[in-house]
Parts: sequence; C-alpha cells; structure tokens
Amino acid sequence: MGVDPERHRQLQREFYARHRERLLAEGAAKRAANRERFAEYDKRAYAKRKAAKAATSKVWRAKNSDRLNELNRQWRLAHPEYENGRSAKRRAANPEKTRAYFREYARNHPELWRAARAIRRSREVNAVGRYTVEEWRTKVDEFGGRCAYCSGGGDMTMDHIIPISRGGTNWISNIVPACAWCNTSKGTKTAEEFLRTRRSGATPPSSSEAA
Ligand SMILES: [Zn+2]
Repeated sequence: MGVDPERHRQLQREFYARHRERLLAEGAAKRAANRERFAEYDKRAYAKRKAAKAATSKVWRAKNSDRLNELNRQWRLAHPEYENGRSAKRRAANPEKTRAYFREYARNHPELWRAARAIRRSREVNAVGRYTVEEWRTKVDEFGGRCAYCSGGGDMTMDHIIPISRGGTNWISNIVPACAWCNTSKGTKTAEEFLRTRRSGATPPSSSEAA
C-alpha cells in the first residue's frame, strides 16, 4: 500500500514547522558557503522573471494600443508645457522641416495662422488671460465677420477693447475683431475713447462705403 500523498504533505508541513529555525539557519549557512553559486542562480532567476514580464507587457501593449494612444493624447492635452518642450526639441532638431511645415500651414490656413501668431505675441507680453483660436473664430462670427468699430469687412485683426498697455486683459471678453485701419488708428486708446474721437471727425475709408 502506497503513502497517501495528502498525508505525506501534511507530515512534511509538520516537520518544517517543528524545525523551522534550524532549517532556515541551515539554508542561510549553505548560501553563505556558496555565495557565488547562489548569486549566479539569483541573477538567472531575475533575468528570467524580467524577460517574462517584458514579454507579457509587450503583448498587453499590442492588444491595448488604441487605448494607450488615447491615454497619451489625453496626457499631452493635460500637460501642454511638457508637449511644448518636446515639440520645441523636435523643432530644434529639424529646423528645415519645421520651416517647411509652418510655411505650408500658413499657406493653407492663413486666418488660423494669423490668429495663432497674434495669440503668441500677446502671451509674450505677459498679459493676464489667454484665449484660443477657436474662441477668436467664435468672436469674429458674433460680429458677422465685420469690424466692431466701422462694420467694414476684409481681414480682421484682434483688437483689445482696453489695451494691454492700459491694464486690459488678454481674455476673449476684452477682444473684438477690428479692420486693420481701425486697429491702427485706435492705437492705445480704449474702445470708448476711440469711438468718441471717431465721431468728432476721423472716419475710416471703408465706413463711407458701408454707410
Ligand atoms: Zn474698422
């Protein structure tokens, strides 16, 4: 009659529990006496675990690539400074490619390009507030694509109702579309001051046509 395997395991457990201290001490002594052999063994075991982990991770990434791309996209959106830093590095590494890309972009989207450039400039002067190209387009639509001061058409520029130099902010609420003529002649006046001077004589060339 053979030994019941369950009974055998039970006896082993009991034996180990009874002699635990001695067995641990023996194991430690054995490792100390064969330090190099055990170190080699540990190293191999570690490399094996690492390779298995990498393989699992690779399979997981391949299976979840869509999800990962989406997570990366969200992370970039949430960390614009980091993305800008990375883009800046990329741009610095490929100046020719970068110039060609921006030339092409400016040619295909002149209106967006002007808006983005104006936003960049206003950031450079450290004004309070910021707006997006999208907000600017909405604002232009609100004015029917026309100058807030003379209702003239054509290319619109961003005008600060209260100039930044006079304490105005760079929030979209302080910005209206203005034709180049009005924007230039308004200068550092507030919208109110400008409209007052306009009533007293100075009129843009386009307003007589529009009226
Ligand atoms: Zn105008």
